[in-house]
Amino acid sequence: MTGLTAAYQLQCAGVEDVMVVERLSTTGGLMRTNRSDGLTIDHLPHLFFTEDRGALRLFSEFVGGYTEHTSRLGIRWDDGFVDFPFQNNIHQLPLSQRREVLTSLLARSSPTGSARNLEEHARALLGDGILELFFRPYNEKLWLTPLAEMDFRWLKAKIALPDARELAVSILGGERERSLDVAPHTRFRYPRRGGIQALTDGLAERLGEHRIRSASRVRAIDTGRRQIETDRGRIGYHRLLSTLPINDTLAFAGLDGGVGAVKRLRANTVVCVQIVAKRVELPDYHWIYVPDPSLPYYRLTRVDRFNPQAAPGLSVLLAECALPASARVEKAAIAARVQRALVTEGVVRATDIERHFVFAYSPAYVVPHLGHEEDVDTLAATLAEVGIVTAGRFGEWRFFNMDHSIASATRAVEKVLRA
Ligand SMILES: Cc1cc2nc3c(=O)[nH]c(=O)nc-3n(C[C@H](O)[C@H](O)[C@H](O)COP(=O)(O)OP(=O)(O)OC[C@H]3O[C@@H](n4cnc5c(N)ncnc54)[C@H](O)[C@@H]3O)c2cc1C
Repeated sequence: MTGLTAAYQLQCAGVEDVMVVERLSTTGGLMRTNRSDGLTIDHLPHLFFTEDRGALRLFSEFVGGYTEHTSRLGIRWDDGFVDFPFQNNIHQLPLSQRREVLTSLLARSSPTGSARNLEEHARALLGDGILELFFRPYNEKLWLTPLAEMDFRWLKAKIALPDARELAVSILGGERERSLDVAPHTRFRYPRRGGIQALTDGLAERLGEHRIRSASRVRAIDTGRRQIETDRGRIGYHRLLSTLPINDTLAFAGLDGGVGAVKRLRANTVVCVQIVAKRVELPDYHWIYVPDPSLPYYRLTRVDRFNPQAAPGLSVLLAECALPASARVEKAAIAARVQRALVTEGVVRATDIERHFVFAYSPAYVVPHLGHEEDVDTLAATLAEVGIVTAGRFGEWRFFNMDHSIASATRAVEKVLRA
């Protein structure tokens, strides 16, 4: 997404000799779609949530038609479900948990301003009840890192406690059925055809085949000679914009990036199991967070609810599992564990499962460590010194959605044009 957007924007700015170099035979990176045998299922669930005008313009220009949806999100809870966001729907919890949440909200003492890590921030903002019931189990299952070892500045705008009136409604219920306030996830858009890869396909098509060198893994960067070495030979460059993971770009350029900063970077691996079944028994949610540590997946996404093309006439469920980046990925074992859990939970009957596919991505989620922002800025500055602009989810090593990746491309293009 970042590389193709940047190339397109450079082309629009009048730069004619742009080339995108990609290690795989297809473009799209994390946004690829499984289009085997009449299916259209994204490798990883991707919904376009943004109100950013530049990102929306690009999306509508390149996907060739889209549908709009109001999000319905849930959380797997005890023997049932509660609506997301958790803190807006406390009245859906059993009485003892409501009491725990309310007591700890009233007992909060430290201000959020003094927090040093994500655990302290969440405790100061949400209280111990919400922290221990939902926030810690879910987030530690996804990030595989203790919250006390995580930076929180990146997440600050994403978690909020409702105001006093809303909080009363959240705890007592009654005034409305459920909260629609799931910003930044309130609404999303999705391509009418082709899955999420329609977006990167549209960009690649506009750039033209001659500007994309696929199946060409970058192996080394010679910043003196201004050449990159790939599986398919050397390529000279005038300006280099890298959307590879920043640690790889540094290694290829023979740079260490400063004491320890590269070693401190953390990410997880995500394995996504796609289940195509005759029928799935779940409430009417687009996706469901699963904090329960005994279940292998941290999120379930019901694809056919927003993408009727996914597997016409069938239900499609994506189950995402998080693994440490260093773990060996045993795809068959993970798929078996996921299917067993779904059957035991009553989500799907074993005999109703028609097919399944497994996709693994690493790195998938950047895990912000303490001092993350400073480390990443230092590494980007090291690359800038040798004339390399780094951009994208792993190029900037930040929690970027598609719209942030588009914005990252725009910033990078400005730097390239200024250089
Ligand atoms: C599980 C998951 C769910 C997500 N869901 C959403 C969502 O719902 N909504 C949303 O907006 N965003 C979502 N995102 C984020 C979104 O995927 C990213 O913001 C975006 O795709 C990042 O694009 P990128 O180009 O920066 O990175 P990438 O897609 O990782 O692109 C990097 C490219 O570099 C290539 N490459 C790597 N190494 C080499 C090499 N040595 N030589 C040549 N090429 C190389 C890769 O093959 C890849 O094509 C999700 C991400 C994940 C992991």
